[in-house]
Amino acid sequence: MQLQSKLPGIGTNIFTVMSALANEYKAVNLGQGFPDFPMNHELTDLVNWAMKNNFNQYSPMPGWLPLREAIAGKVEFLYQTKINADTEITITPGGTYAIYSAFTTILQPGDEVIVFEPAYDSYIPNIEINGAKAVTINLVYPDYHIDWAAVKKAITSRTKAIIINSPHNPTGSVITENDINELRDVVANTNIFIISDEVYEHLIFDNILHQSILRYNDLLQRSFVCFSFGKVYNCTGWKLGYCIAPPELTRELRKVHQFNCFSCHTPSQVALAQFLQNKDAYLSLSAFMQQKRDYFISLMSRTRFDMLESHGSYFVCAKYDRISDGGDKDLAIRLTKEAGVATIPVSAFYHNAKDDKVLRFCFSKKNETLEMAVEKLSKI
Ligand code: PMP
Ligand code: GLN
Repeated sequence: MQLQSKLPGIGTNIFTVMSALANEYKAVNLGQGFPDFPMNHELTDLVNWAMKNNFNQYSPMPGWLPLREAIAGKVEFLYQTKINADTEITITPGGTYAIYSAFTTILQPGDEVIVFEPAYDSYIPNIEINGAKAVTINLVYPDYHIDWAAVKKAITSRTKAIIINSPHNPTGSVITENDINELRDVVANTNIFIISDEVYEHLIFDNILHQSILRYNDLLQRSFVCFSFGKVYNCTGWKLGYCIAPPELTRELRKVHQFNCFSCHTPSQVALAQFLQNKDAYLSLSAFMQQKRDYFISLMSRTRFDMLESHGSYFVCAKYDRISDGGDKDLAIRLTKEAGVATIPVSAFYHNAKDDKVLRFCFSKKNETLEMAVEKLSKI
């Protein structure tokens, strides 16, 4: 059979590769981003309860209504913005799917999308599979802030959207109110959409306010704002998230969604509808993860890595020029095989494999996992 690839040049993604290598070499896995500690048992009990009480059939296409109502309540509590649960929230099987659906909703062949690199690895393939083109702009090393002058230069009549991600994977950088004002400036009097990847909404440190698009009603009118329960409740394997967008955008997004997944896992939605009432469970996450960041950074002072700043997400990057002058991918592979610690090379987040010579570490791990990893890293 002859098959013309829709994604020529795309191989297995880096998270799969590094996790497989970590398993093969029995390495401590600080690569792929997932917690290695148990999730909240109250929430697993609620899912069990829902399953045992017959919440096992299709939920409505846009999602279980009480869950959408709970999300609307949370958004109003956090960002003082009223969202209509019926017309503006769609439950999706994960944040990645929400982003893919948003791109598929708006993109036509030949459109351009502004993507900041390093970028989460799904964005560019999502854009290209829709026949559109990613116009990449590098975040400015070493704090990975946005160069708005470069953004202004990159806008053309074909620019259909800008995707932003704060807190940012892989660097842990966060956008500021000034970035919001610059963004506002760039999109004013245009038809440019915003896709805002906010899956790390509750993983923001140092008392920084999360600059959610949901705070800014003018920007929200042109936005798809994407979230993931996996990151909030330490259950990445649940693959459940949601997309908030104004009614006319949501209506189109649901056309894509209804013929793709149609509806999501019902018992988890029933459980989450109730669990979202517990504000402390999501409000306490930042402090919990900040402690992990600080503990990991303090442990890493025993190594020859030099840590960059991270103000959010569960990642921190490190320079390694005191260890090697080689490429980051080579070093990541060598560290997994020889030192027994898996990381992610940041060049994997650039379409052209630009090498900042930094590795990404996931610190969303048990303290003993972090200690074990650093013990090994301190020997190299
Ligand atoms: N965006 C970013 C930046 C992420 O790191 C992740 C986590 N993999 C996602 C989206 C998607 O989350 P989910 O696992 O819910 O698809
Ligand atoms: N978001 C996670 C990371 O960046 C993993 C996602 C995935 O495996 N696709 O590591």
